[in-house]
Amino acid sequence: MHPALKFLVHQGLAALGRQTFRFPFGAFFYLTYRCNLRCRYCDVGIGRAFPTLTAPELPPEGWRTVMAAVRPHTDVLLLSGGEPLLYPGFRQVVADARRLGFSFLSLNTNGLLLEPDIIDAVDAIIISLDSLDRQRSDRLWNRAGATDRVLGILDGLAGRRHPSVMVNSVILPGNLADLEAVLDFCVARGITFSAGPALAGNRPVAGLAGNPDFHRLVGRILAAKRAGKRIAASVDYWRALPRFPRFSCHPLLVWRFCPDGSLLYPCSRLHRTIGTLAGGADPVDLLTRAAGGPFFEAGCGEACPLSCYMDTSRLVRRPLSLLREGLYRLRAFSRGHRMVF
Ligand code: SF4
Ligand code: SF4
Repeated sequence: MHPALKFLVHQGLAALGRQTFRFPFGAFFYLTYRCNLRCRYCDVGIGRAFPTLTAPELPPEGWRTVMAAVRPHTDVLLLSGGEPLLYPGFRQVVADARRLGFSFLSLNTNGLLLEPDIIDAVDAIIISLDSLDRQRSDRLWNRAGATDRVLGILDGLAGRRHPSVMVNSVILPGNLADLEAVLDFCVARGITFSAGPALAGNRPVAGLAGNPDFHRLVGRILAAKRAGKRIAASVDYWRALPRFPRFSCHPLLVWRFCPDGSLLYPCSRLHRTIGTLAGGADPVDLLTRAAGGPFFEAGCGEACPLSCYMDTSRLVRRPLSLLREGLYRLRAFSRGHRMVF
């Protein structure tokens, strides 16, 4: 089903006070929890950092089974971790995904292990960058020399038509001025900029709410977006973010899978699983059983202010904002680039 039609279905159901786990916009695979960085802000959502989690990792044949079960529901696959390029079967998963008809593959990476063939094989690369100051950034990531390497990679990727390149930054009370420089770096190179607040549990870390420097940063991001620069997440998201508003979360607009192929329900932040697809289970059956029927409610009482949850959820409930966002994207991504969020 075309994504526009999916949005209409989700919007129609939301208007009736319902939400469905069917018609996802994509599937998100945490291929591994292992990572070659130790970022100070790393947070899964349950008070743990990714590299501290242990999980058996499916071999590529296992992911092939998962992908075959997911493919009838979406052709968008988001590969992530931990650091997904530490997963030894990464290239095989990508090749199998193409064979199964996934038309859009995105890779979330810290960039340190990127190789030319991997760059050519995916449609979007999302790379972390939290500061241009090499010393401060290396300290934040706990690895000397990492920032210099990432900046070199981004310079090499800038200006490519394929894959799309996006920087994703974590907003902390201590890097607000640095992120203005990261924004300028991205705008100057035509790289899409994206950012989200660091979280403690599922709420923003202390020191952001009411911080004038945070408001200034968000104001600059909004201005760049309105000027037609490549900024991910909608105008609605950036306008709302400084208030950290409550919202009705639609967490299953994207299905998320742990390294062992188990499906997260209702979201990655709560990190609860409802069974694996690796043995050939049907995802809709698992979700129907977990929800007790065809509809569900997140009912978590949280309001995670990350664009992947907050922005998509709010857009489902705001058709006019969605329409406006479509027009911004037509302007900013008109040269054939495609980004998911
Ligand atoms: S790169 Fe990502 S997964 Fe790895 S430590 Fe940093 S935040 Fe965590
Ligand atoms: S707000 Fe959404 S993402 Fe956050 S815990 Fe609740 S369901 Fe999960």
